[in-house]
Amino acid sequence: MRGVGVVYLVGAGPGRPGLITVEGARRLGQADVVIYDYLANPRLLDYAVPSAERILVGKHGGGDTVPQSEITRLLIERAERGQTVVRLKGGDPLVFGRGAEEASALHDARIPFEIVPGVSSAFAVAAYAGIPLTDRDQSSSFTVLTGYEYPNKKELAVRWDAVARRGGTLVLLMTTRQLRNNMAKLVANGLAANTPVAVVQWGSVSEQRTVTGNAATIAELVTAAGVGPPALAIVGDVVRCREKLAWFERKPLFGRKIVVTRPRHQAQGFVEKLEDLGADVLPVPTIKIVDPDSWDPVDEAIGRIEEFDWVVLTSVNGVSRFFDRLLDQQRDARSMHGAKLAAVGPATARALLDRSLSVDVVPGEFRAEGVAAAMSQFDLRGKKILLPRASAARDTLPKMLREEGAEVHEVHVYNTVAAGIDPSELRQLLSAGAIDMVTFTSSSTARNFFDMVGADGRDRLAEVALACIGPITADTVRSCGYPVAVSADEYTVDGLTGAIVDFLVHGSSTGG
Ligand code: SAH
Repeated sequence: MRGVGVVYLVGAGPGRPGLITVEGARRLGQADVVIYDYLANPRLLDYAVPSAERILVGKHGGGDTVPQSEITRLLIERAERGQTVVRLKGGDPLVFGRGAEEASALHDARIPFEIVPGVSSAFAVAAYAGIPLTDRDQSSSFTVLTGYEYPNKKELAVRWDAVARRGGTLVLLMTTRQLRNNMAKLVANGLAANTPVAVVQWGSVSEQRTVTGNAATIAELVTAAGVGPPALAIVGDVVRCREKLAWFERKPLFGRKIVVTRPRHQAQGFVEKLEDLGADVLPVPTIKIVDPDSWDPVDEAIGRIEEFDWVVLTSVNGVSRFFDRLLDQQRDARSMHGAKLAAVGPATARALLDRSLSVDVVPGEFRAEGVAAAMSQFDLRGKKILLPRASAARDTLPKMLREEGAEVHEVHVYNTVAAGIDPSELRQLLSAGAIDMVTFTSSSTARNFFDMVGADGRDRLAEVALACIGPITADTVRSCGYPVAVSADEYTVDGLTGAIVDFLVHGSSTGG
């Protein structure tokens, strides 16, 4: 029988996944079960092992889906089963997070617990809005208080008279619905009505919205802007610093919602690049990479790998699939002897370099036509070329190499298939006009995306800009009947990112 487990009360930070602590991420990695709130970014769940159970216990809008007593019972019950439990809470667990209640119940039940502090929204959201809570000239203290007062008055009431007169910066959490009331109480108790106020919703993530005004006007302005929870209010002269310091909202792609259709295992680099530019990225993997229908042809080629003069790789997936298979067959790169290596583009070349293999040819133009042209500098007549790649790849490359007199042996090291994810959320977002752009890094991601969007795709996508990594993908998009807004000149993720910025920021279309 397992002994009693342990509960870690972990602060998730204000929303941006990177703002969890190293300790918090480590504890997530040890969890058998993660019990989390809506304020904790669900992307943090990626730190947990796939087999860990994930339980959402709080809902958007503040209302608990699961009552507090039930959550506490769940923590105790799981720990008693011997599980390692992570209770993941937005911000810091002990700042208006009811962490103390949970910890004291654990104490009473003799369950070991630890508290991993988090970056509280109280100051992190201020930083993302460009507002310093203290400032040498304007504020020498800050007070964090709740804007929500429980109707049953069991909790300690806020001393509005003391707060209004104490000076320094005020940070009000849980305030949006009470904002008018909160400001009225502060002003009635002596706060100057023209004191600057900023209300920040979803701080630190790309949905962040900030409304500024003063104590007399802010409630009206927030209602007019349609800003709702989760939001906090910052009251004080320091709010003016935003004019210079609002760094996050000035990022080039800030507020843009962009869909990335790359398969999950390959999307991360691209997603991070877009997020670093301020975009709100929605990963919608439309394809996944699976084994080929049969490995026999690949194994046959591997069995006589030393006969080939060239091995040509056309994708990162091709590299990892082919070389993994080589190892599975008890062979390795040495068996390839003097074979020359060609890669279709820099990412593929990089993947080879990661396996300590340098390429003899990277084309100037990153597609089949480019590789064939670059290889034609060599005498290919009678040369044996192995081409391990995806089953649905175009004929262009083998055809062009054959025209140069080469003997091309193509083998399939993977298939791309539809990712089989539920398209309903995507369709809803598209219909709501919430998406600015959809990106395609290959023809198969595009084709499967249009399948997911369904027959009325043209209506749903009317306002959405479609961005393609290069001309082949762009042609596929057009042949599916959609216009192309962006087609990168350099057929890489960096090239595509640059073209997206040109289009969304400078309005220059490269797709023709
Ligand atoms: N323990 C949390 C606070 C929980 S109370 C912390 O330390 O941050 C919930 C309130 O926190 C919300 O009503 C809102 O006022 C504030 N809040 C949390 N995350 C926020 C965010 N990303 N943007 C704006 N306000 C946020």
